[in-house]
Amino acid sequence: MSAFISKTKIVATLGPASFLPAVQRRLMAAGVDGFRLNLSHGDFEEHAAVIASLRKISGEMGRPVAIIVDLPGPKMRLGMVPKPITVRRGAKVRFWPASQARPGKGIFLPHEISGLAQGVRPGSIIFVGDGMMQFKVKSIEGEIIETEALVAGVVRSNKGVNIPGYNTPSGVLTEEDKRGIAFAIQHKADVICISFVGSPEDMLAARALLPQTGNYRPCLLAKIERRQAVANLDSILAQADAVMVARGDLGIELPIEEIPGLQKDIIHRANMAAKPVIVATQMLLSMVDNARPTRAEVTDVANAILDGADAIMFSEETAIGHDPVAVVRIAKKIARQTERRLVKSGGVALEVRAAIRSEDSIDDLISSATCDVLENRTVDLAVTPTATGATARRIARLRPRPWIVAVTDNQTVRNILALSSGVFPLYVSSVSLSDRELAELLKGAGLVRSGTQRLVITAGSLTGVAGTTNSLKIIDVS
Ligand code: PGA
Ligand code: MN
Repeated sequence: MSAFISKTKIVATLGPASFLPAVQRRLMAAGVDGFRLNLSHGDFEEHAAVIASLRKISGEMGRPVAIIVDLPGPKMRLGMVPKPITVRRGAKVRFWPASQARPGKGIFLPHEISGLAQGVRPGSIIFVGDGMMQFKVKSIEGEIIETEALVAGVVRSNKGVNIPGYNTPSGVLTEEDKRGIAFAIQHKADVICISFVGSPEDMLAARALLPQTGNYRPCLLAKIERRQAVANLDSILAQADAVMVARGDLGIELPIEEIPGLQKDIIHRANMAAKPVIVATQMLLSMVDNARPTRAEVTDVANAILDGADAIMFSEETAIGHDPVAVVRIAKKIARQTERRLVKSGGVALEVRAAIRSEDSIDDLISSATCDVLENRTVDLAVTPTATGATARRIARLRPRPWIVAVTDNQTVRNILALSSGVFPLYVSSVSLSDRELAELLKGAGLVRSGTQRLVITAGSLTGVAGTTNSLKIIDVS
């Protein structure tokens, strides 16, 4: 199996369709680079078993994968609805706290959102079930919110609730999230996703719960899925190690037609900051039931790559779909085809390259110089020894033609780098290697073919120490 499947990385959310180790093995063989555990579902015991199984398979296959723990965040939900309630358009529907006694006759929807009646005003729109149902607030009496249904539909138990512009009274980290972070740390998850981030303080609050010393430094990912996060994007990005364009909630919290433009803006700013960016939700959704995706979905995946996404994420497709492996295979095909075009045209990377060129730091000078050399047709591979992964990410965002092998002595850094476009991360026990040792190592890992190969290696005067990359070398190995 080639290490170099597609430069674009694939994240698969695990669920009933992919809990069996045999399926996980096939997913990895098909090229999955990151597995997402959605803590909104299942319990810690189940998730711990899945992590152990993934680590085992990844070790056996010699394929680096990131284990991604996604925290639920302050997801608002309805309470239990004993049997589905059919609502006509124009119907009077009242929301009430599930913890209180049902107030009287008519259509009442129980919710589990503390402070909801204080958080909405007449005119607010309450979306239920991924925005499929919409209710306009007419009046508020104590804890009862009186609304009018704007569309007809059926309401079921525990449906998600979104209210555009609704701000949670305090930060986004819930007690459940804090337990989730402790769980992620205990099992050395590589990436922890914070849901419904609104401000850089939300990221700082999460970071304060992470280990401050030692080798294990998980990647803290900000899910961009609210208006406030879009408004504070740059300051959130400064405190995040990675971001997700979380189009599911984003498409309800903001007008859905803004998604394509927002996606481009978020990706571009993440590329500029050299932080991995994942595009999520409904990428190949019709494949939950069908053997082939729609033309629109294929085009969507390709466009996300052309926009500069590092990774494409699947949710239902791999969690509850009828054939998760087929989804990954098709995504890899679309990616390979699109990457050929990206190499030819330079695409959005040209913009990033141009912007980097005017920067003065040694880091930026080294990454653009490396990128220039990599454009030469005789170069086969870039090799970046890296302590934190930063050097590899700074070069990767320029989307050079050759692959980048990132060599690191930190397992978590290696797994996080699995999510960066065009990077193949390789674990070594020490990064203080001579050129010869490095070449042997790459050969042993099957990353250089026999016959002469030309490598471009970034190096530092203190190899293995963060932030010291200041030179580059070109060597031929045979
Ligand atoms: P979710 O996040 O699947 O956890 O809601 C992704 C999204 O909102 O798109
Ligand atoms: Mn979401």
